[in-house]
Amino acid sequence: MSGLRAENYEHVTVLASEHGGAFPYGNTVVVNGSSASLVIDPSTEVDHDPIGADGVMISHAHEDHIAGVKHFHAPIHTHTADVAAVRSLEVLIDGYGLSRDDRALVESEIGNQFDLPDGFPDAIGVDADHVFDLGDVTATVVHLPGHTAGHCGVLVEPTGFFYIADIDLTSFGPMYGDVGSSLDDYLTSIDRVREVDARWYGTFHQKGVIAGAGELRRRLDDYAAVIHRRDERLLALLDRPRTIADIVAHRLVYRPHVDLGFVDQVETRTAELHLRRLIRHGQVIGTDDGLFHRT
Ligand SMILES: [Zn+2]
Repeated sequence: MSGLRAENYEHVTVLASEHGGAFPYGNTVVVNGSSASLVIDPSTEVDHDPIGADGVMISHAHEDHIAGVKHFHAPIHTHTADVAAVRSLEVLIDGYGLSRDDRALVESEIGNQFDLPDGFPDAIGVDADHVFDLGDVTATVVHLPGHTAGHCGVLVEPTGFFYIADIDLTSFGPMYGDVGSSLDDYLTSIDRVREVDARWYGTFHQKGVIAGAGELRRRLDDYAAVIHRRDERLLALLDRPRTIADIVAHRLVYRPHVDLGFVDQVETRTAELHLRRLIRHGQVIGTDDGLFHRT
């Protein structure tokens, strides 16, 4: 862990990835109160408990966010909607909705990248607005579903540091390719983040910490625009009727050369969610032969 760079934001310390934070790496958040401390999303670069943490909070059940948890002896918390997947790696991988062949591939990819136990069976489920009282600061769980059903941020007050996890503001854009993902919830969560006036906004991946609500809102606009570009790409593809498989082959999320075990599933789930929304908006119709048409 010698390479991790500690960035200080009053009561919050971010242990910034020395690899820039792209998956499988990420930035770990530590909150130091006068009576207790909380670690959020210990990454794969965290190889011991640096502070004798009193608690661990997991923003959501994805392997990169739980990779360092095994080094902590404190109670582990996550939102009730994701807690089964933190308790069991099997359940976590089930959440990707993979075919049998793809599942074997993803299991070996995860096995190669992360030295994960079979799960954290004692993990505690918390609900939205759960408050960690750390003495002179509080850390409040803010439910921000969409990426996963239980995806949460954590607002540290009075510091004014809002950790928004995998609403990660990257140019790649929002990810909602799991079985439990929701495009509508993701958009609502982006709006919810926009309403919170904080001094700093922390993300898990490449963008790290953003200073100020004005800058955050500009970046959220760019981030949400990726969703609209995917809609436009899908509508352009529907210049002729197409099946889901045909749309998946043309890809809405990943570039053509990306070859990973979960790509087809993410593309399928993403296409389904966009089609459902465009049908609701009257821009697409589906017919009994499995084809989708632009109206
Ligand atoms: Zn994630």
